[in-house]
Amino acid sequence: MELIPHVIDGAYTESADGARFDSVDPWTRRPWARVAAGGPEDAARAVAAARRAFDEGPWPRMGRAERGGLLHRLADLILSRARELALADTTDMGRPISDAQGTDVPRAALNLRFFADHARLATADALPMDSWHHACTRFEPAGVVAAIAPWNFPLMLETWKVAPALAWGNTVVLKPAEGTPASATLPATLALEAGFPPGVLNVVQGYGPDAAGAALTADPRVDRITFTGESGTGRAISAAAAANLTPVSLELGGKGANLVFADADLPAAVDWSIRAIFSNAGQVCLAGSRLYVQRQAHGEFVDRFCAAAEALVIGDPKDRATQFGPLASAGHYRRVRSYVDAVEDQGGKILTGGLGDGWVVRPTVVVDAPADAPVSREEIFGPVVVVRPFETEQEAVAAANDTRYGLNAMVFTENLSRAHRVSAALRAGTVWANCFFVRDLRAPYAGVGESGVGREGGNFSRDFFTEPKAVMMAISDQP
Ligand code: NAD
Repeated sequence: MELIPHVIDGAYTESADGARFDSVDPWTRRPWARVAAGGPEDAARAVAAARRAFDEGPWPRMGRAERGGLLHRLADLILSRARELALADTTDMGRPISDAQGTDVPRAALNLRFFADHARLATADALPMDSWHHACTRFEPAGVVAAIAPWNFPLMLETWKVAPALAWGNTVVLKPAEGTPASATLPATLALEAGFPPGVLNVVQGYGPDAAGAALTADPRVDRITFTGESGTGRAISAAAAANLTPVSLELGGKGANLVFADADLPAAVDWSIRAIFSNAGQVCLAGSRLYVQRQAHGEFVDRFCAAAEALVIGDPKDRATQFGPLASAGHYRRVRSYVDAVEDQGGKILTGGLGDGWVVRPTVVVDAPADAPVSREEIFGPVVVVRPFETEQEAVAAANDTRYGLNAMVFTENLSRAHRVSAALRAGTVWANCFFVRDLRAPYAGVGESGVGREGGNFSRDFFTEPKAVMMAISDQP
């Protein structure tokens, strides 16, 4: 079986205590790799390496063009190993290979290229003052960044954090999710091949609580913590960071509302809504898991939607034809299944879907569930959507906003004024009108409420991963 180690200070290494755990392929339900189980000592070694690389090494002192060039080289190398990286995520967590290779790997490369160029081309304010002074701003690297990632889009989300941190001159310790270790180790090795100094990008594998993750967040030598994962974990990380006053950026859970008005282009709305809830078997923070359809269109929409859900090709995620794979792990399957099993007890009805073979939960469409039922309110993080009819725009907006989350929402309508009005009224970090998942890496990204704290993307990432400094200079008025 393959061994997946840590990468610390430019070298593959096992855990100090030799501990390992298995990574299980969710399609075969058999272990396929052994992983170094990082503990506090391994996290401390990784932070020490990143600290040294930051305090003494060339990385933060390099020109942005030179650093950006290295990030572009890493992007090239990632693309050259696209199949291997995609297969790592597919085998670790069951994402269909066509999506992992066709979407995630190119996006990982784009993350690196975008932030390399963004930092290189950035400008900063110069503030002419009336008092014979001149003020300017400098964006200086913050230091050592701990990046803690989830398992649902491993490579894509890890590079989303690592790329801006590196581009702005920080050094990084990345802790991938324990369920998806494989696609993190290779990029750290490719970074060395690209010419990164050792210690600039470290990867420590392992679990969160009482293990590498918690140790990283409690380490006073860490200057920034960027985290994506569950809202409950976000709370724990925030508390740990508060002890050292370490700034945190949190991208957390969601229960996305999707509003379809009767005047929408219905086939297009069905198509986007299917993608919004069933891509990646619903294991998407942005999933449109609460679907509200205006009464006049409800019947036709639901018929088309169920037919499209049933047409998705379910199967082995390593098969290129597969559109929908198993859930990522036994534990996650049990959790999602518990919601499916409880639908009828909660007053709902399953129109299509339910349990499949192995760890598959089929695309599941629920109607009649009360608004306060757990299936309607809690983040399931699986392929389960609750559909409800609405009468008026006001009613739809109120229902959409009736959540403790606020990551994203969608609105489908051909009425331009309504699209603007509703987008403004929705309480969410991102609103998609007549589309879904379209991204511009300059735009702010994260959620409101329990869906996040802070924003990343473009200048928002710059502001988080740097210490903006004001420099005030006196100008003599004497020639
Ligand atoms: P999780 O919170 O269980 O774990 C995420 C990461 O945190 C893992 O690496 C884990 O090991 C680590 N961790 C857990 N406890 C920790 C602790 N006490 N200290 C330090 N690290 C700790 O989340 P998950 O199950 O991996 O991912 C699914 C969740 O992530 C969902 O809620 C989903 O909505 C959310 N998510 C959000 C976004 C977003 O952009 N907002 C994107 C993807 C996933």
